[in-house]
Amino acid sequence: MLDMGDGADGPVLFISDLHLGPDRPDLQALFHAFCAGPARQARALFILGDLFDYWIHPAQAREPAYAAPLGDLAALTEEGVAVYLLVGNRDFPLSPAFLKRYGITLIPDPSSLRLGAKRVLLTHGDLLCSNDHRYQRFRRIIRHPLTRFLLRPLPYPWLRRLAQGLRRGSQREVARKPITITDAHPDAITAALQGADPFAGPLAPYHLLVHGHTHRPQWEEMSSGQHRLVLGAWEASGAFYGIWDGAVMNLTFFPGAG
Ligand code: MN
Repeated sequence: MLDMGDGADGPVLFISDLHLGPDRPDLQALFHAFCAGPARQARALFILGDLFDYWIHPAQAREPAYAAPLGDLAALTEEGVAVYLLVGNRDFPLSPAFLKRYGITLIPDPSSLRLGAKRVLLTHGDLLCSNDHRYQRFRRIIRHPLTRFLLRPLPYPWLRRLAQGLRRGSQREVARKPITITDAHPDAITAALQGADPFAGPLAPYHLLVHGHTHRPQWEEMSSGQHRLVLGAWEASGAFYGIWDGAVMNLTFFPGAG
């Protein structure tokens, strides 16, 4: 469990769903500006999944579209900003040893965190889409140790083709599914805030749930008085991110050029 103290050492920032990759140089530039701007003043930066549009192999780190943001993050950690990352559905093969090279600490999904007196639950968000049974089944299969064991020896170009095929399939599925299936389910949100399996932890029940994945940024007050902060997907126009200043949590917009 992580404790961010009282905010005296600077704000704590939360981002997710950057979906960085070779076809989005605009987002790469936006992320570079974010790292040189607000992130540099922060005590810590939490990346709640889907930093990359897909991550399947450490060989990707040799491509400029991936090397640049990883370099931005390494520069931040060298400046003394703690960078934590939990994986999303697009980049779950990122390993702790690989991230350590850039000074980034991998944390599990879900993770709990103390922000002052607030008990906070962090998760990517796909686990909250409990109505999407097809996706949850796929998630269990693709993350199964046996699947990973079988995929590991495949050469990078094969894995890349596989990932691109899965990405196209997933885009078609999401476009076809109604919002009630692809959004976080209200029962799952309530259960997560109470600390039901798999969201149990020493800090449960939580004051605040922070997640991404659904690309529907919002600040929500539940009838229980608990809160939910949903981070935004990064777009050319900018990105919604979370900022805790030691007292309050806010959803803030970092504007882009487009
Ligand atoms: Mn996602």
